[in-house]
Amino acid sequence: MSISVRGTQEILFEIDKNITFVKNASLNIVEDFLSKKHRRIRNLITQAKIMEDEKEYDPCLNYLKILKLKQTIKNIISEIDRYSMEAVKYKESMTKLKCYIAKIGEPFITPDTNIYRIVVCRNDGTKLRIPKDKSWTTVKCPKCGYKFVADSTNNFNIIEQKRNRAKKRNQS
Ligand SMILES: [Zn+2]
Repeated sequence: MSISVRGTQEILFEIDKNITFVKNASLNIVEDFLSKKHRRIRNLITQAKIMEDEKEYDPCLNYLKILKLKQTIKNIISEIDRYSMEAVKYKESMTKLKCYIAKIGEPFITPDTNIYRIVVCRNDGTKLRIPKDKSWTTVKCPKCGYKFVADSTNNFNIIEQKRNRAKKRNQS
């Protein structure tokens, strides 16, 4: 018995090492990228706004201010473009990783779509998926741009969910 216990523990230890590797090599790096870039983009926007709001009554100085602002905005745009290219790489890698895990199957099965709830845009009826753990959240419709508070505890959404489940059952 002790041999089998030790054997199992060794396997568990191997898993533990692999988890650490996978986390550091993918998840931690991507999380870090996301939080840093979000923060940087917010800072850039604030920086541009502050510059824009600064009043300059002297026409000569104002002219210089506008030139400087233009240059700053140009720099911000090229910086954001760089992040965008970087983000595409991360996105592609994460998608590959996701597909790979989904392909392995058990025990790495595709997570249940039930982690999402369907909410409906109040403006044009577009269906949006929001995480189930958020009982309410502000969303922007990708189709019409309408912003609204999606309440996933709302009865209407639960009806939608049931309908989806029934559809799935019929398909299988
Ligand atoms: Zn809409």
